[in-house]
Amino acid sequence: MLNNYYHATAKVAFEADVLGGDQSVDVAIIGGGITGVSAALHLAEQGFSVALLEAHEIGWGASGRNGGQALPGFGASMHKIHQLVGAEAARRLWDMSVEAVDLLHAQIARFNIPADPVRGYLHAAIKPRHVRDLKLEQEELASYGAPVGRLLEGAELRARLNSPRYLAALEDNISGHIHPYNYTLGLAKAAQTAGARLYARAKVSHVEPGATLTLQAGGHEIRAKYLLVAGGAYLGGLLSGIAGYIMPVGTYIMATEPRDDVAALIPGNEAVADLNFVLDYFRR
Ligand SMILES: Cc1cc2nc3c(=O)[nH]c(=O)nc-3n(C[C@H](O)[C@H](O)[C@H](O)COP(=O)(O)OP(=O)(O)OC[C@H]3O[C@@H](n4cnc5c(N)ncnc54)[C@H](O)[C@@H]3O)c2cc1C
Repeated sequence: MLNNYYHATAKVAFEADVLGGDQSVDVAIIGGGITGVSAALHLAEQGFSVALLEAHEIGWGASGRNGGQALPGFGASMHKIHQLVGAEAARRLWDMSVEAVDLLHAQIARFNIPADPVRGYLHAAIKPRHVRDLKLEQEELASYGAPVGRLLEGAELRARLNSPRYLAALEDNISGHIHPYNYTLGLAKAAQTAGARLYARAKVSHVEPGATLTLQAGGHEIRAKYLLVAGGAYLGGLLSGIAGYIMPVGTYIMATEPRDDVAALIPGNEAVADLNFVLDYFRR
């Protein structure tokens, strides 16, 4: 069991299913993070029988331990994406990413998930070059029809983000933040209610391909017509076709002790991130 801020503030009572024997399903899913549980929910709602297999507990991986920032876009600027795939595909990718954030908020509302959703984000410059980049970003996002906000500087910036570290910030009301562990557990509960079986402490140790796939997990055999692999960075060598694409990258978050002044530091409760490639990002 993990011991961290998110676990200490978990509000969803979720009980995983117990894998007590062999079974056959339409879809087997490896991994109980947001990818796996969200897929389990949508597949179960479409009438598929689903067995999700999680090695530890639901939300044990990155989904239950991340920064909670819920943003559209990708790990590169839309300018770069445009260069890579062309205008038409770039627009579709942007729209898809906005839809993903909207879906997240819609699911929180639909299943009444106590994930403390907040819309509001400040993309903050710490170098003069970043200020120029933010102006480009503002134009670029406006060209995608995004309701981008203003570029904040000087006293106006300081009133929203009370730190001398930042030179400017672009406000954005699509992005925001959530409690990711409660979100993951809330989705898991919704998936279970929709009929999916979510097994914890059920590490998949072997996958035998074939017209019907056979998985070994927790001493039992699961046969499935389809397999969704949602094990993320923890898959290790399970699937040889994927193993070569996994490499170790360290990324960390921490919670401070409670601070009385935190509301005065970010009065609008936005998520904040700087523009560095290896970035700092934070929220109340
Ligand atoms: C420190 C940190 C901060 C981050 N901050 C943000 C952020 O602010 N905003 C954002 O959007 N993203 C953030 N991310 C990224 C985000 O957390 C991930 O992209 C997302 O959670 C991936 O979800 P997932 O379901 O694909 O994988 P995971 O949540 O990692 O779940 C994979 C699960 O698969 C299980 N598994 C693996 N192999 C097996 C097996 N053989 N059998 C059974 N189960 C198995 C693992 O136990 C694990 O629980 C952050 C990531 C980290 C690490």
